[in-house]
Amino acid sequence: MSILVLGGAGYIGSHTVDQLIQRGYDVAVVDNLVTGHKAAINANARFYEGDVRDREFMRNVFQQEDVSGVIHFAAFSIVPESMQSPLKYFDNNTYGMTALLEVMNEFNVKHIVFSSTAATYGEPKTIPIKESDPQVPTNPYGESKLMMETMMKWADKAYGIKFVALRYFNVAGAKPDGSIGEDHHPETHLLPIVLQVAAGKRDQLAIFGDDYDTPDGTNIRDYVHVLDLADAHILALGYLEQGNSSSAFNLGSSTGFSNMEIVKAARKVTGKAIPVTMAPRRAGDPSTLIAASDKAREMLGWTPEYDNMEAIIETAWNWHLNHPNGYADR
Ligand code: NAD
Ligand code: UDP
Repeated sequence: MSILVLGGAGYIGSHTVDQLIQRGYDVAVVDNLVTGHKAAINANARFYEGDVRDREFMRNVFQQEDVSGVIHFAAFSIVPESMQSPLKYFDNNTYGMTALLEVMNEFNVKHIVFSSTAATYGEPKTIPIKESDPQVPTNPYGESKLMMETMMKWADKAYGIKFVALRYFNVAGAKPDGSIGEDHHPETHLLPIVLQVAAGKRDQLAIFGDDYDTPDGTNIRDYVHVLDLADAHILALGYLEQGNSSSAFNLGSSTGFSNMEIVKAARKVTGKAIPVTMAPRRAGDPSTLIAASDKAREMLGWTPEYDNMEAIIETAWNWHLNHPNGYADR
């Protein structure tokens, strides 16, 4: 039996594929390489290049693979892009889920672990955010992911497809040996941009807003290491295999770091100056996002290894030093 990883050539998907293989799983990957990299896929996984929305292609994959469970990372995830091109998000993300659930049902595959996001909560009323808090997205990306959660809820009721929705907060870091890491074009996430400045690939970092209601005025986010996240997916597969009911879990460290604190930690790790300028707020940015993640710890037995921001940054810096041009170097 194999685990089918959709989006396994992407940042989080490639780390999860790698961890699954290290733990002895038989893994197949589907990816259309729209943002992913073939070189990121562990060589022991079987790779099918194609689009999740293409039902015939997906049927072919399910015919060739004896799939016991699906892990679904294949989506677009850039908030500002989603504000400008919302339909692109509903097409790839939401419609993609329709096609996937249909084919899973045809092939009687009953388990799915899904990449959801803190963006489904929108602007939180209380911190830390609990899974039971209202989900009121403030952008089309978050809305497209909430709709995907909703589809899985009804597909569970109708067809008995059990799901775990993992609501990630801010994901960072890389496999410590520097062999795989984060390589997005364009890069929009804070930490890789900070490290590109440290590596001399950009002149400076623009911090979007220093007038928020936080101690230093910059946004606060909750960072989780990509390998701890990969571990949570494997635990979630086990949770479903044990016959548990569908559920959603926050994945964060429960500790917040301001954008300025991230820069200071990165200066310490890299020994570089990392010049900063203050820029206006970015549309749709909530002030503070911190996860209550005790549910994942209690019910999945999740115990993140990385609880130290500098250690997380070190692994990302190692990837940047080994691959200054990302996967173009491989
Ligand atoms: P990524 O862009 O690196 O990976 C996504 C992968 O899916 C890519 O390899 C891409 O080629 C593939 N893909 C996209 N649409 C596809 C389609 N229709 N058919 C086949 N393949 C397709 O993104 P990532 O940072 O690894 O994020 C993975 C998931 O995690 C996303 O769904 C995102 O919403 C979610 N997420 C990420 C973060 C983060 O901080 N990176 C935070 C919260 C949630
Ligand atoms: N950010 C920033 N400058 C950048 C990129 C991001 O100040 O060049 C800020 C962004 O406004 C947010 C935080 O960094 O407050 C994290 O943003 P990111 O896009 O990495 O993740 P998000 O929290 O949006 O998922």
